[in-house]
Order: sequence, then structure tokens, then C-alpha cells
Amino acid sequence: MKKPLADASRPSSAALSRFSEVTTIGALSIAMAIFIIDIYTPLGIAVAALYSVVVLLAARLATRRGILAIGVGCLTLTVLAYAIQHGRQYEIGPFMRCVGSLLTILLTTLLALKTQESANTSREQAGLLELTHDGVFVREIGDSITFWNSGAALLYGWTKEEALGQSTEKLLLTVYPLPLTDLMVELYRTGRWEGELLRTCKDGRQIAVASRWSLRRDNKSRPIAILETNNDVSERKRIEEERRQQEMELRLFIDTIPTLGWICRPDGSAEYLNKRWLDYTGLALSDALGWNWKAAFHPDDIDRMVERYQRSLATGEPFEDEGRLRRFDGTYRWLLFRAEARRDAHGEIVKWYGTNTDIEDLKSAELAVLRSQAYLDEAQRLSHTGSFAWKPANNEMVWSREAYQILGVDPSASPTIGLMFDQVHEDDRDFVKQQIKRAINGEREFDFEHRLLTRYGDLRHLHVRARRVKYASGDEEIVGALMDVTNTRRAQTALQSAQADLAHAARVATLGEISASIAHEVNQPLGAIVTLGQASQRWLQRQTPDVDEALSGLASIVSEANRAAEVIHRIRQFAKKAEPAAAKLDINELVQDVVRLVRHEALTHQVSLRTSWGDGLPAVIGDRIQLQQVVVNLMMNGLQAMAKVKDRPRVLSIQTLCPETGNVLVSVQDTGPGIGSKPSEELFAAFYTTKANGMGMGLSICRSIIEAHGGRIWANSNAGPGMTFQFIVPSNDDISSASAA
Ligand code: ADP
Repeated sequence: MKKPLADASRPSSAALSRFSEVTTIGALSIAMAIFIIDIYTPLGIAVAALYSVVVLLAARLATRRGILAIGVGCLTLTVLAYAIQHGRQYEIGPFMRCVGSLLTILLTTLLALKTQESANTSREQAGLLELTHDGVFVREIGDSITFWNSGAALLYGWTKEEALGQSTEKLLLTVYPLPLTDLMVELYRTGRWEGELLRTCKDGRQIAVASRWSLRRDNKSRPIAILETNNDVSERKRIEEERRQQEMELRLFIDTIPTLGWICRPDGSAEYLNKRWLDYTGLALSDALGWNWKAAFHPDDIDRMVERYQRSLATGEPFEDEGRLRRFDGTYRWLLFRAEARRDAHGEIVKWYGTNTDIEDLKSAELAVLRSQAYLDEAQRLSHTGSFAWKPANNEMVWSREAYQILGVDPSASPTIGLMFDQVHEDDRDFVKQQIKRAINGEREFDFEHRLLTRYGDLRHLHVRARRVKYASGDEEIVGALMDVTNTRRAQTALQSAQADLAHAARVATLGEISASIAHEVNQPLGAIVTLGQASQRWLQRQTPDVDEALSGLASIVSEANRAAEVIHRIRQFAKKAEPAAAKLDINELVQDVVRLVRHEALTHQVSLRTSWGDGLPAVIGDRIQLQQVVVNLMMNGLQAMAKVKDRPRVLSIQTLCPETGNVLVSVQDTGPGIGSKPSEELFAAFYTTKANGMGMGLSICRSIIEAHGGRIWANSNAGPGMTFQFIVPSNDDISSASAA
């Protein structure tokens, strides 16, 4: 083992002083011994040359001056010994030995001075190396450690004593970043190498060190040692690795999140655009960085967007805008752009982070909603139908624009059920209250009409239809429509009035047709009155007036007069123009009245009347005059149809019956010519007539009267000759009619 470069770790001061004491005593003893031997022993050799040993011993401890003093002292002792031994006698042998010894001592002294100087330099250098925190050690080319500073001891855990003389390979189990031979080639070529190594500490930990090697050569340029400076970079490496990992994860996250994302510098130029952004636009990252991303935007949007973006860059305010971005397939789609600034601890903007969300579908849906809302509003306006939704649970309510309009409420008012109720006509409020109660009690379907009196004093008819809707969330809502049916109701009233007028006109016309029958009906009692009056006169003019017979005659006169009055009353009723009135009617009695009126007409047409009255028929609810008008019409049509029949009996059969519960049927059958293959429905059309003076309104009026009663009228061709006209009207099952007349 060669001498260490310098021993930087000095021994303790106590050990040092003990060592120097021993050395000094030893040196002095040797010097004294040499002196005595030199004086008293005629050895004939240059004993004084042994003073070199004293000088060398002293050189380990003494200062420069001390070495000089010891050197001079040894020279002096040599000369003194020569003088004592030889005096003035000059002998060449001893003299030359003395000179040789003097030269040896001198040279040794000079050498010691030189060695000390270089030792001091080395010590100083080693001291400097001790000052550094780096782990510094020197190893020979054969890998044996010759210097190991405290930094190295701290770094690897091995003390200087443990490390010196050891092989670094064995001590530190180094892992090199490249083959050791390559590394040594570099070191030998350039004299330097630096890189990162993995080394194992005394406690078994593996650490990463940044290592710098310098090759030390001797004066013949032969490599003699390697100086290594090492720093623990494990922590830095760990932090770096952690940061790299975090960055990788962040990038992975940015690339994976299902949105287009990007990072910009404070000046707005793009630093990174995530994979989705690039996939979406079909651009390569390098083609979109900086301000190149602008090229992917719709030319109509980009200037506005950049202007707003730059405003945000200047103020630091979050950026939000919508614009069209060109997709990889060349189509432009609407996207929502959002960006936020990231600031450092001093509030300076360091980055802008942004996302782009494809809102094309949302925009289309929004547009579709707006459009359908517009359609709905328009449709509601045109159809005078408003809509509403009401949650009875929390009283939340929504009205459409048209609902406000129909209810006559200011559109700025909050819709409530109370506000809706306030508009209801006073007379209908109880009814509407019941409907609201039904809704609160959980009823599902609603269909009713009521009147409104708006704040402007308008009377309106409202048809409300609504349904209870149950949502998946469990919420329930009444969703409905409000139809302003004011015009319909007015038209209906006008129609009813027109129909009544028409029916009345038709009745009056019918009266004209049956005037002969009427005259006959009135003439009959009048004739009877005349006959009875004459008979009564005769009873009273007898010699013995037969008062009883006369009285009986007078009673009959009164009865006949009443009959005539009754006929006239019925005719007046029939001819009267009155509002339709609903009453409980005995259908047999009603038809029999008509038969009575028309029977003379039948007689003149040589038609036999046959009647069949149903037993125990339920009463019907209706207007007597209108229903009689229907029967008169059907009978008169039958009589007229049979006028030309010569080859068979003319028979008009009238029948009443109850075909099924809830309905009463009246049938009028003739034996006329019928209508051939013509569809019977045609007969009911307004203005259809085959008669020279006909109007073609009779059957049409009959149908509207029967339908207004909730019934049905139809015609069939008979199996034999003629037609059968029938109608049914709903009955009131409570009441049974009187028995047939
Ligand atoms: P009008 O009596 O003024 O013609 P109606 O509406 O009462 O009007 O009758 C329409 C037409 O129906 C008649 O002209 C006639 O052609 C036909 N019609 C009605 N009743 C009968 C019937 N019992 N037999 C054959 N045709 C009939």
C-alpha cells in the first residue's frame, strides 16, 4: 500500500504531544549515542552519517525552523566530534568521512525540508477537501482507497478507518450507467468522467450519487489515482421521478378526460392540446401549437373569439364563449369554450387552462325546443287553447302564454290556482270548487266547462280537459288544456235558435198541409154542438118540455165545446214559437195526439191507420212539440208516399215500444213505393226532395231534433213494399207511461 495522499484527519492533541515527546526523546537519545560513538569509538566509518536518522525523525514533528536547527545541530555535533577526536591532526580518511557525513546530514536536512513542505501543501489541500460537504475519496488505480473525507463518511456511512485500504467495488457495490470499461476509456482519454451511479451504503440503502472523477497521473503521466467527488442525488431523483410521474399522470388525465382540453401560455399561445382536441380536429400537435389553433375555427367566429380571449388575457377574467370548430371530417360544430387562469404565489398568471365542449347537439335541441315552443305558442294562439300544469302537493303552477290570454290575466303575474279561480264566473264557482276538490282528492281525468268573467268584463266559455300525470320521480301533476269555446258556444246558441226557427217554420208549414184535418177535428165537435143544440131546443119546445133530456143535451154541448177548445189549444201549441223545454213525456200519449190530428188526413188519402202502443213504456225527457213535429212529419211523408199506390192497400202502421233498457222507439211504416236502391241516408240531407212543392227540410229537421234529444233516427226499406222510419230517444226509467189509449 502506498502512502496516503494526505492525512486530513489529525490525531488528538494529547496523542500528538505524547508522540512528539517520545520522538524528541528518541531523537535526542540517538543524537547523543551517535556523538558518543563518534568520539570514543575508532570505528573508522562515517558514524556521523547516522545523524540523518535524527533529522528524519525530527522532520515528522518539527517546524521548518526546527528541522533547520536540528540539521545545524547535527552538523555542529559532527564537526565537534571530529575536532575532539582528531584535533589538529589531519588525516585524509577521517576528514573525508567527516565531509561525507556533513554532506549526508545536509542533504537529509534539505530533503526533510522539501518533504515537509510538500506534506504541508498536501495537508492544506486535504484540509480544503475536508471543508466540502461532498463525499470525496481517492482510490488507486488498483481500486484501494487512499483518502476518504468526512463528507464521504457521512454519505456512505463508512468511517475513514473502515474505508481506507478497501476496494470501492466491494465497499460500495457500485452500479454503473454504462459498462465500466467504456467509462474507464473515457476517463483515461479525457482525464475526467462524470455521471450518476447507484451505490450501497453501509446500512444497505442504495443511493443515487452524482459522481465526478478526475484521473491523477505521476510525473511520467502514468495514472496513479482517481479522485472522486460524490453528491447524494437520491432525494432530487425521487422528487424528479415523482414530478415526472405526476406530469405523466396529469397528461394521461388531460388526454383521457372526455372533453377537449388545452394549456396556453400567459400570452394565449397554445403550449399543449390534449389528445381529444387533436383527434377531434384531426390536427397534429405541432400544427396546432402557438397560435396555429386559430386555423381550426370558423372564419365567421374566430375574430370575435380572439378579441374576447385577448380581453380575458389582459384582465385575467375567466373566458367563456361559443364558436364553431372544424371537426376532422370538415364539418363545423358548435363548441363551448371555457378557460381559467392559473396564478403563482405572487398572483401572476402562469398558465391558462381551457376546455371545449361540443354543444352542437345541445344547440340543435335548444333550437328545436325554441321552435316547438314557438309552434306550440302559435298553435295555442290560433286554436284559443292554453295549457297549464299544477302540482296540488305544493301548489306549483305553470301557465302557457295563451292561458294568460284566455284567463285575461297580466302575463307578469305568478300563476296560482287561486288566481285562476278568481276569474271564474260567480255562478260557476261552486262547480269549479268541486273540480278542484276532485283534483286534490286524486281524481285522474277532468273534462268540464264553465264560464269566466275576465277583469275586462268579458264573459267567456271555457272547456277544461286535464289529466293527472305521474312522473318517474314520484311527483304528480295535473296537466291540462283550457279551450276558449266562447265562439263555439255562441255559434251553437245561434244554430239552436236558427234550428228552432226553422223547425217552427216547418211546423207552421205542416199545419197548412193538415189544415183539412184540423178543420175536420174542429168541425166535428162544432157539428155535434149544433145537432145537440137543435135536439135540446126540440126537447124544450115540446108541450111538456123534457128538461132532463135538454140538460143532458146541454151537457154534451159543453163537452163537445171543450173538445173543440182542446183541439184548438193543441194546434196553437203546435204552431207556437217557443224555446225548447225539457219535460217528462209519455210517448204513447204524445204520438196519440198526433194520430188524432192526422187521422182525417189518412182518411182522405184512403189510408188505413194501424197503431200498436207499447205497454209500460218508460217516460222520455224532451220537448213535446218538437217530438210531435217529428211524428207528424214521418206520418205525412208516409201518407204522401202512398198517394199513387193503387194496387195494394194503403196502410200506415205506427208503433211504440221499448227495444232495450234506456230507450223508447217509435216506428212509422208505410206501404208506399219506397226509395229503390237509393241509400236511405240521402233522405235526411237538407233540401233533398222529390216532391214538386217540397222543401226537403222535413227529415233534416227531424234528425236535428232527435239528435238534440240524444237519440237517433233512421230509415229502412221494408221487406215488402214501402219504407219504415224509426227513431229512438233516451228514456227516464223512473217513470212509466200511462197505458195505451
Ligand atoms: P219534403 O217532404 O219537403 O220533400 P222531407 O225531408 O220530409 O222533405 O223528405 C225528403 C224526401 O224523402 C222526400 O221528398 C221523399 O222523396 C223522400 N221520402 C220521405 N219519406 C218517404 C217515404 N215514406 N217513402 C218514400 N220516400 C220518402
